[in-house]
Formats: sequence, C-alpha cells, structure tokens
Amino acid sequence: MESISSLVNCTIADCDANGNYRVRHNASVTIRDGLISAIEGKKPSRTVNTIDLGGRLVTPGLIDAHTHLIYGGDRSNEFAQRLRGASYEEISKAGGGITSTVSSTCNLDDDSLLETTKGRLLKMAGGGTTTIEVKSGYGLTYPDELRLLQLIKKLKEWSPITVTSTFLAAHALPAQYEGTTSHYVEEVINERLPELHRLGLFDKVDLFCDEIAFTLEDSLKIIDWCKGRGVNFSVHGEQLTHTGIAREASLRGALSVDHLERATVDDIETISSTQTVSILLPGAYYFLRETVAPPVKAMIEAGCKIAIATDHNPGTSPLYSLPLAMNLAATLFRIPPNIALAAVTRWAAQALGYFDRGSIEVGKRADLAVWNLDHPDQLCYRIGSNDLEYIFSGGKRAL
Ligand SMILES: [Zn+2]
Repeated sequence: MESISSLVNCTIADCDANGNYRVRHNASVTIRDGLISAIEGKKPSRTVNTIDLGGRLVTPGLIDAHTHLIYGGDRSNEFAQRLRGASYEEISKAGGGITSTVSSTCNLDDDSLLETTKGRLLKMAGGGTTTIEVKSGYGLTYPDELRLLQLIKKLKEWSPITVTSTFLAAHALPAQYEGTTSHYVEEVINERLPELHRLGLFDKVDLFCDEIAFTLEDSLKIIDWCKGRGVNFSVHGEQLTHTGIAREASLRGALSVDHLERATVDDIETISSTQTVSILLPGAYYFLRETVAPPVKAMIEAGCKIAIATDHNPGTSPLYSLPLAMNLAATLFRIPPNIALAAVTRWAAQALGYFDRGSIEVGKRADLAVWNLDHPDQLCYRIGSNDLEYIFSGGKRAL
C-alpha cells in the first residue's frame, strides 16, 4: 500500500546547481513511498498524514561525505598533553598518534566497537545528517581492515540514516612493512582490493597521498586499479604537502579530492573542468591550528563543486556537527552561507555518487531536515546551537 504524508506550512530552502538559494515560504512537501511527490504553495488536497511545521525551515537532509567514524578510544589525553606543551614528536614517541587509535580499535571486541560507533552516528544524525560516509583505516592489517568493513556493513543494516562504506586502502604503513611501501601497495592491489571488492564490502576506495603517507606513484597504482574496474574512489590530497594527487585523481574520474589546503590555482583550474567534487575539512584545519587555508576564492571563481565534511576522527577532527563544520568553513575559509549549504547537500551527494538526494525536488528521495530556524543563513551563522527539530530519511522519521 502506498504511504502518503505531507509537511505543510514550511519554509523550504535548498540550492540550485549554481549554489544559489531556492527559498519557498508557506510551502508544502508531499512524500509518497519515500520520495518527494509534490511541492506546492498551498495545503495539498490528497494526504493521509499531515504535519504542520509552523513556518519552520526544511532543508535537504545534510550529507557528511568524509568521516573516520569507526574507531576505539579517543585521543583527549593527547589533546591535553599538547595544551600542556608536548610536541607531536614527543606524543608519537610515547605511543600516541594513529598507533594508539589502531591499538584501541583492535583491542575492542566487535560488539563494543559497533556500539561506540552507533553512538557517534546518532550524535551526527542529531545535527541533521541523513547520509554519512564511514571509512575503514584504523585496522591497517588485512584481517583488521576486513573486520572494520564487516562492522560498517552491520552499521548500515542497523542505521536509521544512509551509511556508505569506504575502504581506506592506504592510510599509514603497517609496522611489519617498515619502509617498504611498494610491497604494501602491491598487496593492496593484488589481494586486499580484489577480495574486498568480491565480498561487496565497500562502496568506494580512498587513500592518503602525502609526504608522511603514500607517494603519488603508489597512489596512482591504486587509482588505476579502481579506474580499470569502474570502482569509485576519492583521495586525501594536498593537505600537509603538495604532491599533485588532486589534479591527477580528478583527471582519472575521482568522485572527490579531499583537504586541498595546499592545492595550487593550476590544480583548481583542472579540478573545476571535471566532475570531481572538492571536499573541504575545516575541522582538522581548526583543531590543528593550521595556517595554510585551501584556495577557496579560486575554487569559487573557477566554479568548483565544493563540499564540506566533518572528517570526524579521534586525532585531528573530533567534530560531530555539520552545521558547525559549515560555520568553521564560513569563518576560516570565507565560504558564503549559500555555498556552505550546497556543500553539505547537493555537492556532498555527488561526492558519494548519489544523484537521488541533496535537493528538494519532485522525484528525489525524501531525506529532509527540519530546523527551528526561518532562514538558511542561520544554519551557518550560529555557533554550537543545535536547532534541529527532526530528520526524515526516505520519508520516514529517523530521529
Ligand atoms: Zn580524513
């Protein structure tokens, strides 16, 4: 039996493909079988359930296209040590950094790891997120990465919002490969990727290309494997050093290139000529007190498709809220509020390969966020104020 319901008396706001707001007052949205079936200026006639929103703001459900949500422990102790004057090097020598998250993750049993991840996911949903990407990456060894991807699959089955799964194929070199990245990358290409692909355990592949991580040459080997099989991929690129990965990945059809603090204006020109989305991660920039910001002005002028994500992770961005990420991007990177809304809806959807969501249009999936606000600028303007009233995922109340 078809289910029909309507949200009436709302202020609808989304963004068009040029990043301009489309705001409609006194509007109604009719949902039929999980999809938006009508948008009208009056009360719809044929409805089963009607919810009067009293003029509240309705946006597309927010989409977080870059998170490292599954991990054990946290790194609040390192945060405290840093504030007391310890350097990264000292913390790292004392067993901190990514190594500590890898061991906390491996030391948690499946149920505890899944429970802690579910708790974080619900917090993100509580900030308006209706689609979230979750990367593996804190396993490093093959059995541990396999376990993380299997747990993400369980998370998907349980979750009231959409979860997409990313295999972070090259994050950091596991200890047993000390100094031999090419041997590791060969194992990724010849064993891990084919096996995990056969098992259907990821929607996308990601890697970290940087001076402290994997080289451009190694990264392109992984990308070429993906490209040859029609597998979606994205990269962490141009964050701490410039490697050229963002340009090369966009030319090879990456869904997104993420970070981009050190991208050049030439890189931006190239990326803007492709379908690749540029994902900005202001949480890490803020938390690490970085001073080199991505070339946002050039990105906007070149017409780049810009997304903003939390990059939620325990080391460099323990950020849960997409509206706060929008505020950070606005304040630190000078992103106007309309571009920020497009960045967590329309372009974040495209960054994950979705074309059925990210805007409020007839035929789109009814993923919606209802806010106790009356103008979309307020989403980006308020700092740490959670104004979410509720979210709908596929037409169903998810919170
Ligand atoms: Zn990341």
